Amino acid sequence: MKIDNYNFAGKKAIVRVDFNVPLDENGNVTDDTRIRGALPTLKKILADGGSLIIMSHMGKPKGKVNPKMSLGQIKDVVAKHLGTEVKFAPDCAKAAEEAATLKPGEVLLLENLRFYPEEEGKPVGIDKEDPAYEEAKKAMKASQKEFAKTLASYADVYVNDAFGTAHRKHASTAVIADYFQPEDKMLGYLMEKEVQAVDNILSDIKRPFTAIMGGSKVSTKIGIIENLMDKVDNLILCGGMTYTFAKAMGGNVGDSICETDKLDLALDIMKKAKEKGVNLVLGVDCVAGNAFKNDCDTQICSVMEIPEGWEGMDAGPKSRELFKAAILPAKTILWNGPAGVFEFDNFTGGSRAIADAVVEATKNGAFSLVGGGDSVACVNKFGLADEVSYVSTGGGALLEAIEGKILPGIAAIKG
Ligand code: AMP
Repeated sequence: MKIDNYNFAGKKAIVRVDFNVPLDENGNVTDDTRIRGALPTLKKILADGGSLIIMSHMGKPKGKVNPKMSLGQIKDVVAKHLGTEVKFAPDCAKAAEEAATLKPGEVLLLENLRFYPEEEGKPVGIDKEDPAYEEAKKAMKASQKEFAKTLASYADVYVNDAFGTAHRKHASTAVIADYFQPEDKMLGYLMEKEVQAVDNILSDIKRPFTAIMGGSKVSTKIGIIENLMDKVDNLILCGGMTYTFAKAMGGNVGDSICETDKLDLALDIMKKAKEKGVNLVLGVDCVAGNAFKNDCDTQICSVMEIPEGWEGMDAGPKSRELFKAAILPAKTILWNGPAGVFEFDNFTGGSRAIADAVVEATKNGAFSLVGGGDSVACVNKFGLADEVSYVSTGGGALLEAIEGKILPGIAAIKG
């Protein structure tokens, strides 16, 4: 079922959102992006005349009640955004009464789902090596089903709008869907947008397609690089992984971050790109620093000749030009991971050059998806988030989707 085609009038909807928002030491929300992200879905349900049961996790309480991670702390912020009072159920597994008395237009927020180990479905307090672990896992899976069934019993319809946890098979993200008929379960608007964005990158590709992969290590990106290799025209590999490639090609990388056990992997990626006709773009020069801090001394040097005591911390001017040339003509762009240590203001230039080129290509009609952790922080730092086509909210979930993996949260609804 599609959310747009569903009339929630007179229905109770239980909606899984990702309200895992950052809080300060006094429990105040410091960034409400995730709350705002869920509003279109929540407001549609209320506008139709439905009642709303909102559920989410917050932090990693590991199956125990922890007041510091109570969703009660964000109740008023949610109420402000929805423009209506929000009731709070302090025990998510014992909220049947509160749910039953909800009237159309009313909202109930459930306490942190992860106060129950059943949400994640992993046995607690038992080591994986313990001979009794498998039994404990089986028992936990059974109680996870019961927990999901209890949550499902509160409502007539289930909506999943939590893309950030779509790669997890948890009670509220996937198992719960078994207790609803196909016509009474659906993705929320945010999820639909994320799924569409991934589809634009993986199936409905307009060419040329340029993927920009940065960040610190090649080892954490290898699954994505391999999946993209069959799809992209240009593959820019930048950031810390530059130096693993440079070393693999016989360069001296000084003190740069470098995975010496991944040199063969780097050569293999280069070979595969050649075989598949992918234009692999690697940095040729860098801004090197003599200490890993913002105000260190810097010099521009070839990535193949970085002096001892210096480390490559950002893409150099020639590299930036090469990146730009591969980005500007693109009609599909994926950007994951910064080109340098962008947290230090003196080393943002490479990432900024990429961001500017992505923005310009977007203005010229490209579809650009920025996602997966630090590249999002990067476009936010530059104030450019509104000038790319889509900024994904799901770090790990987006990366797994781009790797080509089926996300349990989506499969549970779409089959
Ligand atoms: P990732 O989580 O793999 O996307 O990596 C993001 C991190 O990579 C950021 O914290 C950057 O500071 C870091 N990074 C990017 N370029 C470099 C570099 N040349 N040396 C060290 N760290 C880097």
